[in-house]
Amino acid sequence: MKQIVFATNNINKLREMREIMDGLYEVLSLDDIGCHEEIIEDADTIQGNAKIKADFVTNKFHVDCFADDTGLEVETLGGAPGVYSARYAGEHCTYQDNVDKMLAAMKGQTNRKAAFRTAIALNLNGESYFFEGRCDGHITETQRGSEGFGYDPIFQPDGYDQTFAELGHEVKNVISHRGRATRKLIEFLTKEA
Ligand code: IMP
Repeated sequence: MKQIVFATNNINKLREMREIMDGLYEVLSLDDIGCHEEIIEDADTIQGNAKIKADFVTNKFHVDCFADDTGLEVETLGGAPGVYSARYAGEHCTYQDNVDKMLAAMKGQTNRKAAFRTAIALNLNGESYFFEGRCDGHITETQRGSEGFGYDPIFQPDGYDQTFAELGHEVKNVISHRGRATRKLIEFLTKEA
């Protein structure tokens, strides 16, 4: 099977991506290729951060690579935390710290609309490409469910009455921002193959 590097060591994202790409590509992580450098993601857009990661790996290891970056955009917070979603509650915060901060920020808010957006940057055969996926929903009043990661326990996608953390992997992969962006990537890779 063909190999492609996914510029991440996030085991949750790797598991999701391997499930979605199952049978098409063997997805290698940064660890798998021996890339242990810290990649500084200092762009001010999710597209910019995805490109920084993909370019770092392609330039250093001369391999085809894709990288993703995701942001949670909350309407009433002016689109925050967006590109800063990972560090919303501080530099070394946990997923739970971010959830707690978001629930506190949204206390009493009636407009709870939010969207996850994923950007994927792909370097393939010397060319660069971008793919995007989006999932609309709202921030719940309390956290519910134990699957998934990050903001999953407080994000309820439109058309469902459960959070991502209650819906579980299979449903999430079909409707999520990352699932949608990844299917665009796969459609493209399949045509290119
Ligand atoms: P990243 O830059 O793509 O790693 O995403 C930034 C942050 O957004 C992560 O640290 C998580 O807190 C959050 N995040 C990304 N994807 C998801 C998801 O699918 N569900 C919930 N939270 C997510």
